[in-house]
Amino acid sequence: MQTFFVDIVVPLPLNALYTYRVPVALNEEVAAGKRVLVQFGPKKVITGLIHSIHENPPTKYEAKYILSVIDDFPCVNAKQLKFWEWIANYYMCSIGEVMNAALPSGMKLSSETNIVLNPDIEIDYANLSNNEFLLVQVLEHKTKLTYKEAADILENKSVLPSIQGLLKKEIALLEEEIINSYKPKIINQVSLSPDFHNDFAIEALFERLKRAPKQIEILLAYFQLNKKENNFYGYVDRPLLSSMVESSSAALNSLIEKNIFIQQEFRQSRIKDFHTETPANKTLNEHQQTAIAEIKAKFEDNDVVLLHGITSSGKTEIYIKLIEEAISDGKQALYLLPEIALTSQIINRLRKVFGRNVGVYHSKFSDNERIEIYDSLINPNQTIAKPSVILGARSSIFMPFDNLGIIIVDEEHETSFKQFDPSPRYHARDAAIVLAKLHNTKILLGSATPSIETYYNAKYGKFALVELNKRFGDVELPKINIADLKDAYQSKKMKSHFSPVLVDAIGRALDKKEQVILFQNRRGFSPHLECNTCGWIPMCKYCNVTLTYHKKANALKCHYCGYATPVPVICPACNSTDIRFSGFGTEKIEEEIAIFFPDAKISRMDHDTTRKRNAYDRIISDFEQRKVDILVGTQMITKGLDFDNVSLVGVLNADNMLLFPDFRAHERSYQMMTQVSGRAGRKGKQGNVIIQTFTPNHPIIQHIIDSSYSQLFENEIVERQKFSYPPFTRLIKISLRHKEEHILDKASNELARLLRQKHSGYILGPEYPVVSRIKNLFVKEIMVKEVHAKNLAELKKEILAHSDNVKLQKDFKQVSISFNVDPL
Ligand code: ADP
Ligand code: ZN
Ligand code: ZN
Repeated sequence: MQTFFVDIVVPLPLNALYTYRVPVALNEEVAAGKRVLVQFGPKKVITGLIHSIHENPPTKYEAKYILSVIDDFPCVNAKQLKFWEWIANYYMCSIGEVMNAALPSGMKLSSETNIVLNPDIEIDYANLSNNEFLLVQVLEHKTKLTYKEAADILENKSVLPSIQGLLKKEIALLEEEIINSYKPKIINQVSLSPDFHNDFAIEALFERLKRAPKQIEILLAYFQLNKKENNFYGYVDRPLLSSMVESSSAALNSLIEKNIFIQQEFRQSRIKDFHTETPANKTLNEHQQTAIAEIKAKFEDNDVVLLHGITSSGKTEIYIKLIEEAISDGKQALYLLPEIALTSQIINRLRKVFGRNVGVYHSKFSDNERIEIYDSLINPNQTIAKPSVILGARSSIFMPFDNLGIIIVDEEHETSFKQFDPSPRYHARDAAIVLAKLHNTKILLGSATPSIETYYNAKYGKFALVELNKRFGDVELPKINIADLKDAYQSKKMKSHFSPVLVDAIGRALDKKEQVILFQNRRGFSPHLECNTCGWIPMCKYCNVTLTYHKKANALKCHYCGYATPVPVICPACNSTDIRFSGFGTEKIEEEIAIFFPDAKISRMDHDTTRKRNAYDRIISDFEQRKVDILVGTQMITKGLDFDNVSLVGVLNADNMLLFPDFRAHERSYQMMTQVSGRAGRKGKQGNVIIQTFTPNHPIIQHIIDSSYSQLFENEIVERQKFSYPPFTRLIKISLRHKEEHILDKASNELARLLRQKHSGYILGPEYPVVSRIKNLFVKEIMVKEVHAKNLAELKKEILAHSDNVKLQKDFKQVSISFNVDPL
């Protein structure tokens, strides 16, 4: 007999694979991609994933045995494992952290495994050790024990051997619920026994049951149900059949007893069923056809194509056609959307075309539902169909695809594709490009307002570019008007945060029974100063970003380079002394607008009002059904929604966005204002947009008015080059945390010093970020800029090595260091 070892991934932030020994009895069962239970550390039992199988015992430690194999078939395939490795490498995290992000939590065993008695076994008490006997006695009273409880009972004396002894004798089991918190929904189904699958037999059967009218009724109902499905002798749900014939339970049981019906347990899917309407088969118009032909032509020589199409140009229809083609080639499709754009509107649109063939993967779904979708892609013995299309938010890149034929990334510019916390801090668009490569397939990025990096790549050769500049049905783009806040303040015409232009326009829209969207950006909340007379905002001399107000130091600081200056008392632009904090939220707007329009029905959509599972959909559907006149919201209202009665969109404060202390502030402002403008005036009517700003002549405002993405791009790319930002450099942000400021200071200075030995000039900081203390820990950041992409891998290795060195120093043991590659 051969002795095998397995290298396993554990779902913990540890940078290694761990080698375990395979008990001979499990030799046949182990396979890469299957989950196993292993003892980890002195007391824990956890789920690991088999990464590879080999015959080399570890040299540094004695390999422990794996305890059991959880899966009958691999739940992670070889491509996924490669993908995990890429993510771990690129985003500087452990493969265990990737595993943690990639698998629904119910697929990972918690460390507190319960031990229960096996109900099917007669216990031979004589054959137990003293410790085993003790545990069994407790279990007979307490039904289950955690490892920790078991350890307490045995006072830590040989807990594991005792438990393993009980497991081996099959007296105890590890509780399945914990191993797999997923609980399938079971339903009984019945079908007519094959003995009766012909007309003669059925006729004879009716004759035989002549005296049992209930049973005949059931038979008739059974045929009726099957006729609906065009399937004569199929399985039907027992509860459904029962519900068709009054008090039928006994009669049904008797049919089963007589072997006329066969009853079977079926696992019922939680994946919501829906009516498959006749596919709304849309024919693409000529512009769409040209675009799709270009996309396909470019896919011949390019793996990545960017579809830059203005809002409402019909991009989604193009995606649908490409997906249809992939499916008809027998392949799978992945359609990625940002979480907030994944609304029932888009889900229904896809389901109309693909019916049951769409699986939706959404963070608002329960873990059980997510497991079922995951499982539907891998489980060979299931009753639910394997979907060919996965529509989902960023984490759906981790689905177990085996045969991808196309990936679509819609709204590719959206920042929510990037996972911020916890690690892995991956960008789903960028990772999807790698995923496509692993599957040897193509990927289409789509956006009305692409990210500067993507457009740069598309324009200068790394990707291919296809443009679509006509709105579908020639609906006009909304008309964009500017409300000059400087004017309005100086002439004292402001009503709180509302300019007269905006108030008038809202009034007129409401009079015509049209709806209004008011947009206030959440990102505008960095504490910055603003001159209330002229709108001047202090900027960093070196970084082209807004300075942030630091209360403690009573100073303005650049959170990129650390430049600091005292808080001015007089505005250097207009000599006014009316300088104050800026920033107001959606809640405030909702309150104020209610005062000006007491009869209007107002609703608010932001982070706070959409916490509950269905809140988001409810707000949207109330607005769709015109139960609400004015919807106040953050960028949540900008995505993928199609309302047909909105005639006015108001942007409360463009400057908050334009002057946000971030080198991407201009790009973001353009994207957000263009997207929110797109909500105005669909379906035949030209919409109106009013943007309130202190800086009506700001070039970005002009580009928005002209809806000229190319001008925005030209503008931005010059700035990016001048200040060495992406796409001309790559950024890695290092965050250090510790509960004591002076230790954090020392540690971060030490890390910066080590890094500067080789990379002087590219290391910015250490600096305190805007939020400098999180959960009682002080935070400091170091930003690393690298010009040459080919040096990145090396640079990452250095950063990791230096960080390890810092952490090895006695005082810095408790300092936590984390990395954000390509931070947004
Ligand atoms: P985008 O994704 O570019 O914003 P959509 O695909 O949502 O644009 O299209 C905008 C509107 O036009 C939608 O209501 C869509 O149903 C409609 N539409 C787009 N293409 C077609 C087509 N070929 N036939 C019929 N309606 C279309
Ligand atoms: Zn001023
Ligand atoms: Zn600066």
